[in-house]
Amino acid sequence: MDLEKHLLRKVGEAIHRFRMVREGDRIAVGVSGGKDSVTLLEALLLLQKRAPINFSLCAFTVEQGKFLSPIGPIGEYIRSLGVEWTYHTDNPSLRLIDEQPDHGCDLCSRFRRRAVYQIARGLGANVIAFGHTADDFCESLFRNILYTGRMSALPPVTNSRKGDFRIIRPLVYVTEEVTRAWAESKVAPVIPCGCSQKTGTVRRGIRETIAEWEAERPHLRENILKAMGNIKHDRLLDTRFLDPDAAGDDEEADGAATELVQVL
Ligand code: SF4
Repeated sequence: MDLEKHLLRKVGEAIHRFRMVREGDRIAVGVSGGKDSVTLLEALLLLQKRAPINFSLCAFTVEQGKFLSPIGPIGEYIRSLGVEWTYHTDNPSLRLIDEQPDHGCDLCSRFRRRAVYQIARGLGANVIAFGHTADDFCESLFRNILYTGRMSALPPVTNSRKGDFRIIRPLVYVTEEVTRAWAESKVAPVIPCGCSQKTGTVRRGIRETIAEWEAERPHLRENILKAMGNIKHDRLLDTRFLDPDAAGDDEEADGAATELVQVL
């Protein structure tokens, strides 16, 4: 597989489908220290040279006191790509660690979000890009179904509550095998985050299950992503989307039931 071609095709597809990038955008890429966000930054840099529209890029990292080693090498790498890199120590997050060492992801993410908006505002950005991958989208769908009773994943594109930032996730169709291979091929530094190793049991479990399924049925993640973009709301149980008086297609429902019996 031509890694660069594959990466750019997948990122281009997401950008085009969800209208993520527009003329004159200034995109601030959130670099977390992992392989995904570095891959995202490099993909956007390559697309910037080829895209028919003009947009500018910058990168930032939020220090919340959770990196296992100094983040400096990531900054040097980003600057070597010709991209402005901002490193922001978020003091409220550091105080949170002292005051509530067992805080969960919800609180941590809320602190991070506030810092991210503040940084992006300072950088003059109107778009914030995050490196969530296809694996994150699949895992998040199953996590929500299994643990919150909600059928939802992550938004590929959304706006901040006040509407001052567009938030995009251009790696929605890129799997982590690809980001791993990309980061390795570029010898990009990867700085691990310590707490994810403690809090990630549920996430890891879901990922391992999906990987096991995929070992037997190839392209499973692709199908999960396809399903997220192909919702048959009249085959689900949410009464907000059901009209009991609408003409239906019961034959299709019969077909689906037969397929289910065959699978079982
Ligand atoms: S895994 Fe760690 S860094 Fe990530 S949101 Fe949860 S507490 Fe914060």
